[in-house]
Amino acid sequence: MCRHLGWLGTDVSVSSLVLDPPFGLRVQSYAPRRQKHCLLNADGWGVGFFDGSAEGAVPRRWRSAAPLWGDTSFESVAPALRSHCVVAAVRSATVGMPIEISATAPFTDGQWLLSHNGIVDRAVLPLTSSAESVCDSALLASAIFALGLDVLGETIAQIGSLDRTARLNILAANGSRMLATAWGDTLSILRRPDGVVLASEPYDHDPAWEDVPDRHLVDVTAQGVTMTALD
Ligand code: GLN
Repeated sequence: MCRHLGWLGTDVSVSSLVLDPPFGLRVQSYAPRRQKHCLLNADGWGVGFFDGSAEGAVPRRWRSAAPLWGDTSFESVAPALRSHCVVAAVRSATVGMPIEISATAPFTDGQWLLSHNGIVDRAVLPLTSSAESVCDSALLASAIFALGLDVLGETIAQIGSLDRTARLNILAANGSRMLATAWGDTLSILRRPDGVVLASEPYDHDPAWEDVPDRHLVDVTAQGVTMTALD
């Protein structure tokens, strides 16, 4: 399972979300605390963020197939990257999946940035022509984009019923809305005064972190946060 993190709120630096926290994604790349299905996340990383004001913001991505902990160029630039909406991930490739940039989250359709923690049988996914990679997560992202993020909860429940061993934690954002599912792996939410963090695991000891129950959808907008059961 990979680890991911999303932010929707005021402009903050990418570094403050990903690199600086004591148990942030950089530390999770070599010492995750809640990861159940593998040891570390050394097979790449990706940071996507929306550039510009909420309306008309453009998704931009910086991805690598190398470990996050060794990327000194990213470390140098990340404090200068600021955004109101971020989707970032560190990757532990599932056995048999390619280790390459195009298999590394976040994926995009030009409007949404999307990350997947988990594993899914590619045979149960609808065929799409636009996946970036043959990696299960890239195919799943492509299917979700094709069906539309408005039906994310229904899509995950449907795929989960076709592959009962799938783990389908999705995190997606479009600059004004952030969605996440908990389906087989951990997910936590932190409501800060300046915005909302959704993350595979808490990045610090703040007592305000809440665990999202399994098989739930979280929907974050400027209007607030809703949590819905998916079964
Ligand atoms: N199955 C995906 C991959 O191979 C995600 C893996 C994960 O969550 N560790 O990249």
